[in-house]
Amino acid sequence: MGTKDMIALCSDFKDKHDSVCIFGTGDFGRSLGSKLLQSGYSVIFGSRNPGDSRLLPRMAEVLNHVEAAEKCSVIIVAIQRDHYDFLKEFEEVLEGKILVDVSNNLKINQYPDSNAEYLAQIVPSATVVKAFNTVSAWALQSGSLDASRQVFVCSDDNKAKQQIMDIVRAIGLTPQDKGCLVAAKEIEDYPLQLFPMWRLPIWTCGGLTVLVFLYCVIVDIAYNAVKGNDVSVQLMITIPNRVFPIVSLMLLALCYLPGVFAAIIQLCRGTKYSRFPNWLDGWMLCRKQLGLVALSYAFLHAIYTLVIPIRYSVRHRADMSILNQIRQNITRTLEKPLAWRSDTYLALGILGFFFYVVLGITSLPSVSNAVNWREFRFVQSKLGYLTLVLCTGHAMVFGWNRFLLLDRYRWYMPPVYTLSLVIPCIVLILKLILIIPCIDNKITKIRQGWERPSSNKSGAKIKTYDVAL
Ligand code: NAP
Repeated sequence: MGTKDMIALCSDFKDKHDSVCIFGTGDFGRSLGSKLLQSGYSVIFGSRNPGDSRLLPRMAEVLNHVEAAEKCSVIIVAIQRDHYDFLKEFEEVLEGKILVDVSNNLKINQYPDSNAEYLAQIVPSATVVKAFNTVSAWALQSGSLDASRQVFVCSDDNKAKQQIMDIVRAIGLTPQDKGCLVAAKEIEDYPLQLFPMWRLPIWTCGGLTVLVFLYCVIVDIAYNAVKGNDVSVQLMITIPNRVFPIVSLMLLALCYLPGVFAAIIQLCRGTKYSRFPNWLDGWMLCRKQLGLVALSYAFLHAIYTLVIPIRYSVRHRADMSILNQIRQNITRTLEKPLAWRSDTYLALGILGFFFYVVLGITSLPSVSNAVNWREFRFVQSKLGYLTLVLCTGHAMVFGWNRFLLLDRYRWYMPPVYTLSLVIPCIVLILKLILIIPCIDNKITKIRQGWERPSSNKSGAKIKTYDVAL
């Protein structure tokens, strides 16, 4: 293709796009303007100081607000909400135009109404569309839009909304239709939320960590201190290396427990068309985050375990043991059952950790997007349960028969590793019951849409999540 053809193609492409006006020449206005220009739009900035356009893209036109608004049907208002009042001064020019509200607030519920609804109230003769607020000026400028490719769009006017969604697509972003303008409040809250899906997993993990740590301190450090034996040196590595695997295993089991509860609820109700209780809904929605927190603790356990041979207290104990054998002139022979047990314990741990990592990797969007739904379910469900079995086995072989030894019950408290087994064993036993063929067939039928005749009295069908995990 020759240069002339290229130029013709570019100008043809440009002709197909309207001019877009941007009010405000600040960070966001400039970044969005550059992106629109790169995508073939003509951009006209509306500014209080049209003469001062040093930082603006060269191909853009800069006029005062009225002149700029007169030239375009779409006006992006890249100005803070506090300054919207100036729009009233030339409301007649804005009549019938599409005003795109891109604004964010500093905190949730800063104003009683959303910024977009406020804009619609100030300029009632225009059509307001909420969009672009979840994309940052920096991401638009640097092109690193991977994390914020989605643009949530809402408006009471469908035609105007579609027009803005076309612009969103044209600049390489993905529009998400969120419905009417009342949704603007929710959209404005998105960029202000701090890890909403991580809150429950992190609180659960933090709470369990504190409880298990205190339990270990009481059972190991305080008990020995009372008996006149100072083992406080264990606080740095030994105790944390007990806490991390125990909490990790509990969290892994907590990822699979809601799926089991959901199956039991569906079995009891005889239908999948009824809503789960809110607590179960919330729990199921954050299983991925729970799993990732559990994986991070498993990593810590692996790292803490690797440093054991280089610890001074461990080397000292090993040296003393050898010296004692020499002094007493005894030779400890290899205890084969103990060797088997130790290797089994380590092998289960290594394999469990391997599958743990596979689960974590497949939960990454770039990987999960590359597998189909069946493959994803296979990994997260089948391999997930295999991981739970291996890690539970790892803890069981570690503890072996110690829960039967009375001297391990310090102050009548069971050894800490037994605590780690409670939730995983409940999950595995319930799962074993649920996969008994006659029960499993019934659940499969329910999940394929079958309903027990008595279960559909309300007539209202609400689809619940696919809870195969
Ligand atoms: P900014 O850099 O402070 O720019 C705001 C612009 O508004 C100014 O450059 C000015 O343009 C105009 N302005 C200021 N006071 C005004 C007044 N009294 N009357 C009329 N116009 C006035 O802010 P920004 O970061 O670009 O943000 C603009 C909007 O985009 C905000 O609502 C923000 O919430 C939203 N947003 C920003 C980002 C981001 O990453 N920055 C991301 C998403 C959404 P002129 O001097 O040309 O008139």
